[in-house]
Formats: sequence, C-alpha cells, structure tokens
Amino acid sequence: SITAQNVTKRFGAFVALDNVTVECPAGELVALLGPSGSGKTTLLRVIAGLEAPDNGTVLFRDDDITRHSARDRNVGFVFQHYALFRHMTVFENVAFGLRVRKWPENKVRDRVKELLQLVRLEEKAGLYPANLSGGQKQRIALIRALAPEPKVLLLDEPFGALDAKVRAELRDWLRRFHDALHVTSIFVTHDQEEAFEVADRVVVLNKGRVEQEGTPIDVFERPANEFVMDFLGNVN
Ligand code: ATP
Repeated sequence: SITAQNVTKRFGAFVALDNVTVECPAGELVALLGPSGSGKTTLLRVIAGLEAPDNGTVLFRDDDITRHSARDRNVGFVFQHYALFRHMTVFENVAFGLRVRKWPENKVRDRVKELLQLVRLEEKAGLYPANLSGGQKQRIALIRALAPEPKVLLLDEPFGALDAKVRAELRDWLRRFHDALHVTSIFVTHDQEEAFEVADRVVVLNKGRVEQEGTPIDVFERPANEFVMDFLGNVN
C-alpha cells in the first residue's frame, strides 16, 4: 500500500492540503476526484516526491519515504501533457527508462516488444510521436511509465485532452494494465464518471480536505455530505 498520512501543504499563506490522509491498498486503483483547485495534483506530487509536504508522511508499505527523492520511489507517472520525447521513436521512448536503469539491451528489446504488443502498437515501433494519434500517444505514455516495473503508478488527468470515445478505450487499457501488471495506481480526475468506472476506491477532495472516501457504490449511493451530493449531481 501507499499512504499519505496527515499531509499538509502550503503555498505561502494558502493551504493546498489540510491534514489529508489517503491510503491506497496494494493492487488497488484509487481515484482522486474533486473540482479544480481541490488539491488533487498537489497530493499526487507529494506522493510522487515532486513536492515536499510541510507536515505529514508518505508511507510505502510500512516504510517512511517522505524524504526519499522522486527517483528513489519507484513510481511511474502519466500526465495529461506528458509529452513523449519528440526526437525519439516509439521504441526508444519506451526503452528510455530501461536504458537509464542500465537494463541489458536484449532485456530492453524483449520488454519493449512485450509492452508494444500489449497495446497492439508493435507496428508503430519505428515511428515518431508526431505520427501517432492522441490515444496512441497516451497508450505509449502508459507503457513507458510501466516499463521499469514500478510498484506505484500515478496518473494526473492522463486522458483529459482526448475525445470521449478514446477516453473510454484508454480507461479500459488502464484497467487492464493495472490488473495484469500488479501495480498500485492513483488516478487524478475531475470527471466523476471516469472515477466511478475505473476505480476500486474513490477519494473526494474539496479545498484541500477529504470529504469522503469509499467504493464507487458507497460514494454514489451514500454521499457523506452536501458537498459530495452537489458535486456528484452537478456533473452530467
Ligand atoms: P485542477 O483540477 O485544476 O488541476 P487540482 O485539484 O489538481 O486542480 P491543485 O493543482 O493541487 O488542484 O492545486 C490546489 C491549489 O493549490 C490551487 O488553488 C492552486 O492554485 C494552488 N497551487 C498549486 N501549486 C501551487 C504552487 N506551486 N504555488 C502556489 N499555489 C499553488
């Protein structure tokens, strides 16, 4: 499991996260859901090690990793505008993180091939990102993040820029990878439908606080308060 425990993060006088505790059990896919400015990205960045909290701890299993660098945390990232390297082919993009980690070249080739097959893009291996559709780019971004076998996958509105049909397809890919590769994933979205469809658990954030946490059914059928009810009701 990965846990943010009693995390507070301020930007000057502004409190972006106010004593937030979120636990993501091993192997589960947790969605952070909330309106713009509620602190979703900040929480993800604290968990990733890209932002240091003012208070609180980040735990991986039982280890306190609050002071570990992002590089040492063994997490994979996918962001909405996480551009692939433009000057590298699809193959080189996916291989990059493996080569950085000094994988032997024959293992790199096998792993990249396996992952490209998994997303059915093996025939695009030699192309540059400019020659892929938006959905294909995000499939490559997903497998690039997963290639070095991270224990934790963090996704920040990864499909935000795509149209509804492609989003739905990518949601299915994400769910499939997540299950097949035994990662623990945290997924940021402001889209409740997306959160409910893809996640095992949903955490609803508002103004830097957790309003509710539970399974999609729990949250949908038993909103904890007026905010959650309004937020769920207002979308769609
Ligand atoms: P969105 O869906 O719009 O991305 P979010 O829920 O991810 O929103 P955050 O990006 O975590 O929200 O931002 C939470 C609040 O913290 C916002 O009010 C934002 O302006 C503020 N904030 C975030 N990063 C910084 C920063 N580096 N400096 C100052 N304020 C920041």
